[in-house]
Amino acid sequence: MSHKRTHEIACPFCGREQRVDLWDSICADEQPELREALLLNRVNRVECAGCGKSFRIDKPLVYRDGRRNIFIHFDPLIGGRTLADVEESFRQAQAELNGLLPADVAPLQVHLVVEWSELIERIFLLEAGLDARLVEHIKYLMYRQNAGKLPADRKGLLFDAQDSTVDQLCFVVQDRATRKLEAVLNFARADYAALANVFQADGQGGLLAEQFPGPYLNGRLRFLQDQAEQ
Ligand SMILES: [Zn+2]
Repeated sequence: MSHKRTHEIACPFCGREQRVDLWDSICADEQPELREALLLNRVNRVECAGCGKSFRIDKPLVYRDGRRNIFIHFDPLIGGRTLADVEESFRQAQAELNGLLPADVAPLQVHLVVEWSELIERIFLLEAGLDARLVEHIKYLMYRQNAGKLPADRKGLLFDAQDSTVDQLCFVVQDRATRKLEAVLNFARADYAALANVFQADGQGGLLAEQFPGPYLNGRLRFLQDQAEQ
């Protein structure tokens, strides 16, 4: 069931304190209108009672779509928490959850994202039946192939479901500082399928799992890491 709770917040523009109801969890299969609202960036948005300005509150949110078997935990890096902290608490929560499951039930595959844009992207990506790890690997390849033109420290890549076609997977280049969308890069679906075959033959725990051990998958950060090590 979707769940909302009252929070005490201060407006980032005028400082006015107010009580607002924010979503902790969303069950998209039970309330498809909440899925719509989320994809339109209307979930956990607040209009200030003082200055009237609108802003989104970054707080943890669990997204579930049982019908499509999609489970995503959005855990933003707020309150001084690092990526390592978030990954560690995610691992602990997963272990606890899986400990409660009967032995014959396969553990849930829950995705971890830390940015709002990643949450939206991951929903579209999983609904399109794509493999999140492989998509991050493809982003990694794009950074490598476009070295110089696509600086990974400043430019993000987001899968764009709406503009993808039967032949091409579409990715949008986003400036991380200004959030502006600047360019579009395509990746042939045939190449995606070929890579999927290679990695499937490679098996669980193969090269792809080695490159992205998880739980947080990010081709951009992986590329930056590898660059720094070279
Ligand atoms: Zn305000």
